[in-house]
Amino acid sequence: MSDIRLEGVSKRYGAVAAADEVDLAVAQGEFVTILGPSGSGKTTLLSLIAGLNRPTVGRIFIGGRDVTDAPAQQRNIGLVFQSYALFPHMTVLENVLFPLGVRKIGGAAARTQALDALKLVRLDGLQDRRPSQLSGGQQQRVALARAIVFKPDILLLDEPLGALDRKLREELQVELKQLQRSLGVTTLLVTHDQEEALSLSDRIMVLDKGRTQQVAAPADAYLRPANRFVAEFLGIANFVGLADGRTGLVRPERVRVAAANINGGRPARVVETIYLGQMVRYHLSLVGEAVPLVAALPFVGKAFAAGDEVAVSWDTADIWPVA
Ligand code: ADP
Ligand code: MG
Repeated sequence: MSDIRLEGVSKRYGAVAAADEVDLAVAQGEFVTILGPSGSGKTTLLSLIAGLNRPTVGRIFIGGRDVTDAPAQQRNIGLVFQSYALFPHMTVLENVLFPLGVRKIGGAAARTQALDALKLVRLDGLQDRRPSQLSGGQQQRVALARAIVFKPDILLLDEPLGALDRKLREELQVELKQLQRSLGVTTLLVTHDQEEALSLSDRIMVLDKGRTQQVAAPADAYLRPANRFVAEFLGIANFVGLADGRTGLVRPERVRVAAANINGGRPARVVETIYLGQMVRYHLSLVGEAVPLVAALPFVGKAFAAGDEVAVSWDTADIWPVA
C-alpha cells in the first residue's frame, strides 16, 4: 500500500494540454475517482501514474518515492481497463498466474495466490475456462484478479465497468467497493459516470479539459460544487436567482412540491411527470418567470400531473451559490 502524489503534472500533445497542472494527493488505502467527460484527460492521468507515459512537466510520487522517470515495471501497480485485455489462448488460471510469472513467482505458491485472487472475485471453480467461455462480467473479474494477485501497492482502474450492462455494473460496483475495502489497496478509478463516482469513492476529482475542477467528498461536490461545470456534471442542477443578484443552485431532491392552495412557496406549473420507480421527477416551470425547475420526490401513491398548478419551495440552507 502506498499513497500517490501528483505535483504540477502536465502532459501536452502539441497545442492540447491533456493534463494541465494537476495536483492530487491520494492517501494510503483511499479510493479516489477521477470523473470527467470523454477527452477530459482521465486516461492520460492514469497512464502517467502507471508509467505508460511521461509528463511534460511535474513530478509523480508513489509511497513518497519520486517515480516520474521510473519505468512501469518498477511501480508495482495493478491495472484494469474497460477492454478486459485478457490473453484469449490462456485459461483463467493462466491469465491470473501471468503477472506472478513476470515477477518470478512460480510453483505451488503462485497457484495458491492465483486461486486466492480468483476466490476474492468470486470466480472459484472457473479457473480452467478460457475467456471466451465467460460472460463480460466474469471476464472483468478475471482482469481484476490479475490486477490484484501480486499484491500491488496501487490499483488503477480505467472505466472498468463501462462495457457492462447496468444491472451487472451495479452489482460489480458493490463487489469492487467491498474488495477495495478488504484489501485496503490505494485505488484510483476513472469514470465518466457520475453515479458510479458518487457511490464508490471516498473522494472524487472532477476533471475538465485536463484541469482539476474540484477534489472533494462525493456529498460535498454534489451539494457544494466549486463551479457551474461541477454542478451540472454531477447531476441535475436548478439555477435560481438570488436576492443579491448572484445565482444559486438547489438540487432536485431539496425542492418541495405542494398543492397550490397550501400557503407558502412559489407558484409553478407541472410540465412533465416522470415515474422512476420509487421516485417521481417533476419538470416544472415557475409561473411568471418561465424558469425551468426539476424536483425529485419519493413516490407515495399519488403524483401531480402535467398541467397541475403547484407551489414549490426549498430551504435557504439548500441553496449553494455558484460562480
Ligand atoms: P479521457 O480518458 O478523459 O477520455 P484522454 O486522456 O484519453 O481523455 O485524452 C485527453 C486529451 O488528450 C484528448 O483531447 C485526447 O485527444 C488527447 N490525447 C490523448 N492521448 C493522445 C496522444 N497520444 N496524442 C495526441 N493527443 C492525445
Ligand atoms: Mg479514457
